[in-house]
Amino acid sequence: MEYRYLGKTGIQVSTLSFGSWITFGNQISDKVAKSLMVYAYENGVNFFDNAEIYANGKSEIVMGTILKDVNWDRSSYLLSSKVFFGDGGTLPNQRGLNRKHIVEACHAALKRLQVEYLDLFYCHRPDKNTPMIETVTTMNHLIQQGKIFYWGTSEWSGVEIMEANMVAKENNLIGPVMEQPQYNMFHRDKIEVEYDKIYDTVGLGTTIWSPLASGTLTNKYLGKFPNSTRLGLSELNWLKERSLTEERLQKIEKLNEIAQDLNVSLPQLAIAWCVQNKRVSTVILGASKLDQLKENLKTMDLLPNLPAEKLEQIETILDNKPKKPMF
Ligand code: NDP
Repeated sequence: MEYRYLGKTGIQVSTLSFGSWITFGNQISDKVAKSLMVYAYENGVNFFDNAEIYANGKSEIVMGTILKDVNWDRSSYLLSSKVFFGDGGTLPNQRGLNRKHIVEACHAALKRLQVEYLDLFYCHRPDKNTPMIETVTTMNHLIQQGKIFYWGTSEWSGVEIMEANMVAKENNLIGPVMEQPQYNMFHRDKIEVEYDKIYDTVGLGTTIWSPLASGTLTNKYLGKFPNSTRLGLSELNWLKERSLTEERLQKIEKLNEIAQDLNVSLPQLAIAWCVQNKRVSTVILGASKLDQLKENLKTMDLLPNLPAEKLEQIETILDNKPKKPMF
């Protein structure tokens, strides 16, 4: 396993990490969840990703129980949570990035995960209703208290990340150091264009999500619709409609041929494609079955470098390279 520094911080994160969205406390049993975490850890994964909203807090409870059970040295792995969406409450102040909710969400995550501190704590989305200084001050306070070590953002615009850093700098506070955006062959703008300048100015690290576009960058939807997959879950109908368009399926078919040329699977090609972008600190994998995780974690052994001519062929198939504005 390769480890990369998380932006300009001094911590190193495995290039392949593991997250629990949709799966833990929801789609898969706790037994499978444990087998996935143990396999990931034993194969060099050192970052486990979570959020208050995942299964309304249940995902953190499942992960916390596993962590307690396996009793790994706390210094050997990084653990995250995210605040913004709440864990199911709908009353005022039960979500957002105000001081009250951030502090309560942090305390709730620590309790559910059964740990003394979070290594990474993310603002899961920007909050248009809370002043930036309130969010930045609160995150800084949690760092000073030793409850979190680093804070970051998820799906914030480049301007919002810069504003948070500016507010932090003006007030001698610690600003956000990592962002968690979606990044995969079908979704490229933020990583490839929008954050281009911030990588160097603020030293942004990135922990990217949905490298397989929710499991569509596989061959399993080509000409069929298998049972028991994420896109078959009734509550995710919106995601299925967005993901399995005719245009995408045609591209997936051609990408699958490139994977076959390289003697790898399409998920392995799609993961290697994310990893080859050095702006990506870690690719967060998801899996509903152990065999998937085994396949995905083999990626860097099978495909440590993507040949330039294959990258060009992929670019031609995708036909979606984001353009940097000229002015
Ligand atoms: P992916 O796009 O890789 O999707 C993972 C899913 O794809 C699996 O659960 C499985 O679903 C399917 N899959 C995985 N590997 C294979 C394989 N080899 N063959 C066939 N199917 C496969 O990642 P996620 O969308 O799960 O995102 C990863 C993590 O990122 C999340 O767990 C979460 O921690 C984080 N995240 C963060 C977000 C944010 O807003 N910050 C948003 C979303 C995710 P199935 O078998 O059911 O088809």
